[in-house]
Amino acid sequence: MDLEERIHRMPKVELHIHLEGAVSPETYMRLCERNRLTPAFPLDPAQPTYPLPRPGDFQHFVRLYLAIQDAIRTADDFALVVYELARDRAAQRVVYSEVTVTPYTHIWQDKGLSPEAIIEGLEEGRRRAREDFGVELRWILDIPRALPEPAATWTADWAIAWQERGVVALGLGGSEARGPAERFAAAFTRARAAGLHSVPHAGETGGPASIWAALHALGAERIGHGVRAIEDPLLLTYLKARQIPLEVNLTSNIALGLYPTLDHHPFPHLWRMGLYLTLNSDDPPLFRTTLTEEYVKAVRHFGLTWNDVCTLVLNAAQATFLPPAEKQRLVQTIQQELAALSEDQTNHVLQGRWEDEYR
Ligand SMILES: [Zn+2]
Repeated sequence: MDLEERIHRMPKVELHIHLEGAVSPETYMRLCERNRLTPAFPLDPAQPTYPLPRPGDFQHFVRLYLAIQDAIRTADDFALVVYELARDRAAQRVVYSEVTVTPYTHIWQDKGLSPEAIIEGLEEGRRRAREDFGVELRWILDIPRALPEPAATWTADWAIAWQERGVVALGLGGSEARGPAERFAAAFTRARAAGLHSVPHAGETGGPASIWAALHALGAERIGHGVRAIEDPLLLTYLKARQIPLEVNLTSNIALGLYPTLDHHPFPHLWRMGLYLTLNSDDPPLFRTTLTEEYVKAVRHFGLTWNDVCTLVLNAAQATFLPPAEKQRLVQTIQQELAALSEDQTNHVLQGRWEDEYR
């Protein structure tokens, strides 16, 4: 079994994927049809794909994202997109995911959705995901940086209220320039005091200052992206010393123009320096990728070994916001499966084919 085959088969954990950004083009068309909406961009019914965001044009990406979000109109729609997400998780062997949802954008546009309808749909989807696919999901409620108050207060309120309904953390997303972290300090302080975790996006559209602000003003426990830490040696030292997990999304970074190609991506430098990295897919159909594909790309472009891949998977499992006992069970299960897959490698090593098969 070669390394890529093993990547396909191994159990995975994903920490950074957006529910609205994970809606497949087929499901988007289905949502438009059942809600009597005209798709916001032309899609070929035979083989629908989203138009790729223009590199460097974050607002173009936001418009695409909002069009998909706009097609989700009812509790049943939420249940459907969660169920479809879980089907995809199962196909990729992603056994556990912390999924970012941005509920305020659904309320803000006044589509007639109530907060209760949103959580009912999410929870119905989550229940069916577990029953039908054995896939575990938790929610991260995301504050959209660019929207005015009450976006932050509202999101923190519902995140706190829905802790018994799968919400594990408060997030922060969108344009870092238009919404500096300090503006959201009160919401994060309140959420953390109520027992939620803190996982803002930072160091994607913004530089190191934005990551420092996420750490100091928001008490970030993991950083969404964070790759632009590479621009600040002091920050790298800080992140390494505290082993703060970075949720890296390779294809997303290229699609949005952070780096022109993977050859320019700081991943291999961050990895060699010993930072705590995880691999994720962000908004997979929008960037035409999958979590599996992200691992394959990392192996092909950066020469990662099977050991590196195992470390990345276990990094993600260890960085989940599950309670300690549940986390331990998840980590142990994954370790056992990885060990079983590794045994296959040992046989090949004995046959002297390691170099060919596993680099
Ligand atoms: Zn993201």
